[in-house]
Amino acid sequence: MKNSVVGFPRIGKLRELKFLSEKYFKKEIGKDELFENAKELRKEHWLYQKTAGIDYISSNDFSFYDNMLDTAFLLNVIPQRYKDLNLSSIDTYFAMARGYQGEAGDVHALAMKKWFNTNYHYIVPEIEENTDIHVNSDKPFNEYNEAKAYGIDTKPVFIGAFTFLKLATFKGNAKLSDYVTPIINAYKDILIRFNTFNSDWLQFDEPALVTDLTKEDIELFETIYKELLKEKGDIKILLQTYFGDVRDCYDNIIKLDFDGIGLDFLEGRLTKDLINNSPFPDNKILFAGLINGKNIWKSNYKNVTDELENLKKKVSNIVLSTSCSLLHVPYTLNNEPNLKPEIKSHFSFAIEKLEELSTLTKFFSLENYRECAEYLENVELFKKERLYSDESVKLSIEKLTDEDFVRLPTRNERQCLQKDIFKLPKLPTTTIGSFPQTADVKRNRSHYRKGEIDKKTYDANVYQFIKDCIKNQEELDIDVLVHGEYERNDMVEFFGENLSGYVFTDKAWVQSYGTRCVKPPIIFGDIKREKPITVDYSVYAQSLTDKPVKGMLTGPVTILNWSFPREDISLKEMAYQIGIAIKEEVLDLERAGIKIIQIDEAALKEKLPIRKSDWYSEYLDWAIPAFRLCHSSVKPETQIHTHMCYSEFNDIIKDIDNMDADVITFEASRSNLTILDAIKECNFETEVGPGVYDIHSPRVPSVDEIVKALNTMLEKIPEEKLWVNPDCGLKTRGISETVSSLRNLVEAAKIVRNSL
Ligand code: GLN
Ligand code: ZN
Repeated sequence: MKNSVVGFPRIGKLRELKFLSEKYFKKEIGKDELFENAKELRKEHWLYQKTAGIDYISSNDFSFYDNMLDTAFLLNVIPQRYKDLNLSSIDTYFAMARGYQGEAGDVHALAMKKWFNTNYHYIVPEIEENTDIHVNSDKPFNEYNEAKAYGIDTKPVFIGAFTFLKLATFKGNAKLSDYVTPIINAYKDILIRFNTFNSDWLQFDEPALVTDLTKEDIELFETIYKELLKEKGDIKILLQTYFGDVRDCYDNIIKLDFDGIGLDFLEGRLTKDLINNSPFPDNKILFAGLINGKNIWKSNYKNVTDELENLKKKVSNIVLSTSCSLLHVPYTLNNEPNLKPEIKSHFSFAIEKLEELSTLTKFFSLENYRECAEYLENVELFKKERLYSDESVKLSIEKLTDEDFVRLPTRNERQCLQKDIFKLPKLPTTTIGSFPQTADVKRNRSHYRKGEIDKKTYDANVYQFIKDCIKNQEELDIDVLVHGEYERNDMVEFFGENLSGYVFTDKAWVQSYGTRCVKPPIIFGDIKREKPITVDYSVYAQSLTDKPVKGMLTGPVTILNWSFPREDISLKEMAYQIGIAIKEEVLDLERAGIKIIQIDEAALKEKLPIRKSDWYSEYLDWAIPAFRLCHSSVKPETQIHTHMCYSEFNDIIKDIDNMDADVITFEASRSNLTILDAIKECNFETEVGPGVYDIHSPRVPSVDEIVKALNTMLEKIPEEKLWVNPDCGLKTRGISETVSSLRNLVEAAKIVRNSL
């Protein structure tokens, strides 16, 4: 048996690519240095895989920002406004990713969206009427040859034409159907070029196949690949799917001329049934995705080998594969000297997963692997009782009743009462929570972590940052203030560190978008709050001003979705455990005199099942209640805010309203305000602050621009319900752009307010 890796993380095991790119953005290094170092990283990543004994290794899984953006760039799907900047090729690429403001012009970044049900975000390609699709870059070819020079024959990987078209947006009169032939031709050119290199395999990633497909979608897929596969020549083509099962099109895809089909056996609930119902063809290889590319637990060797033994009875050719790209897990446990061995023994990150793949495939060449030490050791591990199991947590979940999920009185009554109490102006201004994490802020944290300063000094510094932050906001004349979140590096890790049951890593970074990485904590046991987490910081901030300062918490669904979850209890149970912990914090804040509390659910949509038919039964039926659990017993006059970002909310807007918050702020500027229609249509009751500018880009929005956005919003949202705020937290931004942006924001709010 052979093994395959769908894709390998590219950010570097110590986030080298992030730091390099950021240096390039700041013009501290030039293009050559950027490229040279990136090349070294690719080499390292290929060699890990080669050395571990991986048979099918990908190339072109490297990216300076995002693979969808790479594909757009490769296909010349570059909107005219970026071409008009006349920048170098790499700078045009980065302008699409991050926006550009400089001598050459002023353009926004392309929209960014969540990549299926992950916390990775892709850049949304934009196809215009005059877009001329053709192969426009040498990246995949160069990277293939680069690997070859190291003696590694890779399988170049591409986002497939179907997924690309399905995720792209079409501007003006451009429509998908006009681009089918051009895109087929471009992909054909790719095949022709790889044929000249005598490459062996090519991988087309088509995760869009695991979504709910219409008849037309399936026809489109068939049209593309019937045509395209005519040009495959001597190259074998692997159709790779992930994040679910291909129930709508399994019978169609096995009839096409693919040489291999990659199926996800972990998130693909029906994958096994599909193979049982219609035999997998003998002339194709099944790439069986049995090693979890999304979670950090060691594989259960018994389960995986049992599954493979079963499959072998039905399928002639099997390659053991990861369930998706390893992009979604951290690099290596070797960076984690501080994890206790009894905890570490349960984990497997990207590099360790390579070893699992090779061990498991090696088993199949042995007489009786079930007696082999590696196998037996793994069986023992899974028999062990888990640490941090807590009976009291289980009990408090059992005791929950319906009332624990309902806040009284009704939202309308609460909102009237709150208007009287807070006496905020119309279109109140606020921010989402964090302020720039300056070098001083980061230094304070790292000194404390390294034990160079004590908790008292650390806190004194944090208090100073808070003081400056409140003063700044008062000077800017913002209406509802925040304390700035200087005590947190990350909205989930911070809470995890203060909840028992969590385990932390030092360097287990995972790419979230571009150069932004997150370090998800790991839910290892039952979750419980041991003591107040944010109260002192919030109380201090509030003591400095007469304006309301929001208490700032992360909600249970987001904490869960941005953690690596356990696999031995349900997501619902984990969400309720965290919900109870956050509820205790909410009540402590309220008791301490905090009148507005924001419970962020930035990642609410993250685990929304890809298929609509699973939305409620598998997710929303517990996710929305988990949020309600946190605030159901606050006083009517306490104002509950929430915040969401990074995804389109139109399709679950009613469910969001059902979270029963008083106010919600969310990301809207980068998705062109389409959410406003959804809000209007469903008579959204929650007061809303759709972000008026994009904080993921360093450009400063003008007053005019914000006035315009607000006026557009007022067409759909009643003036007594509209808030004015940026679209997300400001922690990744610099101070000066933040102050300028907020100054413009407040001025714009005042202009529009006075015009009402
Ligand atoms: N309150 C958080 C912040 O401002 C929210 C972050 C987020 O939505 N990703 O940083
Ligand atoms: Zn946000």
